[in-house]
Amino acid sequence: MRKYDRNAVFNIVLKAVLFSAVFALVFCLLSLAAGLNALLSAVISAAAGLLAVLMFSFLLRYTAFYFSYYSFVSAFLFKDRQGKVFCPCCGKHFERFRDERYYADVRRFNPDMFSRERQDVICDFCRSAPRHRIIAEWAERNLELLRSSKILYFAPELSMMLWFRRHGIRVETADLFDKRADLKLDITALDLPDGSRDIVFCNHVLEHVSDYELALSELHRIIRKGGMLIISFPIDPELDEVREDTIGSVQERIRLFGQHDHLRVFGKDSREILARAGFETDTIDIAGLPDEILPVTGPADYDTNTIFCCIRE
Ligand SMILES: [Zn+2]
Repeated sequence: MRKYDRNAVFNIVLKAVLFSAVFALVFCLLSLAAGLNALLSAVISAAAGLLAVLMFSFLLRYTAFYFSYYSFVSAFLFKDRQGKVFCPCCGKHFERFRDERYYADVRRFNPDMFSRERQDVICDFCRSAPRHRIIAEWAERNLELLRSSKILYFAPELSMMLWFRRHGIRVETADLFDKRADLKLDITALDLPDGSRDIVFCNHVLEHVSDYELALSELHRIIRKGGMLIISFPIDPELDEVREDTIGSVQERIRLFGQHDHLRVFGKDSREILARAGFETDTIDIAGLPDEILPVTGPADYDTNTIFCCIRE
């Protein structure tokens, strides 16, 4: 519990207790009126109320993606608190971001590739990583552009979807496997017209697809000339060029690329790869970003906080 934001958890528990107390009182009075065992009824209804609120509150964090009630319910359950760090995705302050040790699962990850000190990585509410907070901060500064653009978001990420929802910006989402997405699309064979989108977001997708060059050429095709691609992927700053999976075993992928379903890691040639695909490439400048959103890089060593902001030539 130490690494969680105590205020946020305390807030939920307090509300759950208050709610269940009211619940119990009402049922106690109703039972008295009906001539039943009031004490037993109060205990059962208090327990049921407590459980219901706790389940609903914690579930809400992971279901916010689906439901538009996020904004008003979460505003009640998760009031913004003062704190040292700030998540621009969900708009909340915390004492710290959290260290989430999902990478300890060696069947899926290589913990050696998560070697940095990481007390402050994941947002306690929306689970944003540093890279999401960089994109959200960039988005805050480009509100008018985003409001007037036709946006397609590949493999939508909860934290950024919350940002879009909070700002009332409509985005079309696409994924090959995730049924929640608006469009079921294979990024290497997009069933979309040429030049039909103004901005495409595509974060941490290219390391999963069989042919990343084909994916980039498809992205180039569907973005209008002068349109924008916001893209990121794992980068090993020591590598001269992209390193591909040549063996195809899960163990080897985990060892080389850190995660069971990563087929490659990119290297110093990332810009050239994007340029070859027809993009004028720049990166989001993180030097000027506030410390409160970005205490560290990570979570993996290959998460270098490099977000490419490309113009389609
Ligand atoms: Zn957040």
